Amino acid sequence: MKLNKTLLTLSLLSAANVANAGEVEVLHWWTAGGEAKSAAVLKEMLEEQNHTWKDFAVAGGGGESAMTVLKTRAVSGNPPSAAQIKGHDIQEWGGLGFLTSLDSTGQQEKWDDILPSVVTKVMKFDGEYVAVPVNVHRVNWIWANPEVLKKSGVELPTTLDEFFVAADKIKAAGYVPLAHGGQPWQDATVFEAVALDVLGSEDYNKAFVDLDMSVLSGDKMVEVFTKFKKIRDYIDSNSPGRDWNVATSMVINGEAAMQIMGDWAKGEFTAAGKVPGKDYICAPAPGTDGQFTFNIDSFAFFELSNKDNQKAQQDLARTILTKDFQEVFNLNKGSIPVRLDMDMSKFDQCALDSMATFKASAKSGDLVPSMAHGLSTTSYAQGAIYDVVTNFFNDDSADPKQAAQKLAKAVKAAI
Ligand code: BGC
Repeated sequence: MKLNKTLLTLSLLSAANVANAGEVEVLHWWTAGGEAKSAAVLKEMLEEQNHTWKDFAVAGGGGESAMTVLKTRAVSGNPPSAAQIKGHDIQEWGGLGFLTSLDSTGQQEKWDDILPSVVTKVMKFDGEYVAVPVNVHRVNWIWANPEVLKKSGVELPTTLDEFFVAADKIKAAGYVPLAHGGQPWQDATVFEAVALDVLGSEDYNKAFVDLDMSVLSGDKMVEVFTKFKKIRDYIDSNSPGRDWNVATSMVINGEAAMQIMGDWAKGEFTAAGKVPGKDYICAPAPGTDGQFTFNIDSFAFFELSNKDNQKAQQDLARTILTKDFQEVFNLNKGSIPVRLDMDMSKFDQCALDSMATFKASAKSGDLVPSMAHGLSTTSYAQGAIYDVVTNFFNDDSADPKQAAQKLAKAVKAAI
């Protein structure tokens, strides 16, 4: 009798839960191995709360295709519950009136206290949370296969000059020195790593945050383009159109020696069962030790009319910033947690280095937003930079001096 009563209570309770359950449709571009594993964690945690997860994955590294699809859906009056939107784009969507407030959840969960202020600024529109951060990716990394370096008789380069010397030897030994995918966002990722080294953090900010014309067209920018061009000599001829994770797999399987890519690449090494320090090396991109180009993934939340779906939306936002989610998601994704109060004991050396540099660079002025990943400026200015950089990289006869001038002109026209 007692048992029956308990069963009855339980089933009533779960019926009540189901009644309150909603659906979250989540747009993202996490389709590579490590990325998909990370997204699956969020789905599971939402389903544990009885909500339904409707996956809206749009493949394409860097998210350009995802953003195009999102615009079509939103404009036709049918936005998803949440979409992977970053940096300045959050303000743009907020300004268009599409986003919903997460402020009461944010206050209950004390987001202002657990997040760094450099992050909360980006997540708020008009003083209210409209987005939640998932992680902090460091973009200025180089990933290397130690076996290939050894067989080529070189050490991992720490400066660009060392990189060029090592790359010649790697090429002579029959390996691809740099695994790269010829896509605009990947070109921009390598370009900004070179720019960070050559310009230094202060001028990097002047160029890509302040859009300062004299830095964009200046002598140091000419040097950035000159060095960037030299990198082409160390990329294989099959690179055009190649996806970033395919490039990472070339380093994993020993076809290539190195890749310059953000630490979502680590998610691929992890998914392949590889161990840092043993099977692969992570290090700051040449010449950028102590500097940190940040890329913060976040989800912005759209205004919905269905009450249950609204509740599911707030639950999604809350879940993203729980310690449990932050830990397991970031272990898979290759990034570090965005909460600074986390126990980091399960994280590897690359993540610990990233966290230490994140904190130290915030104090030294060497924490800079990624241009290539939409954190430093508007999508318009970013698009203009992408075009100049990619056209330059794909043109054998392109001239660095002219490229710097074109860069300034294109940015000016976009703002
Ligand atoms: C995103 C990462 C993603 C990468 C490759 C970046 O812009 O911030 O989360 O893994 O693109 O798709």
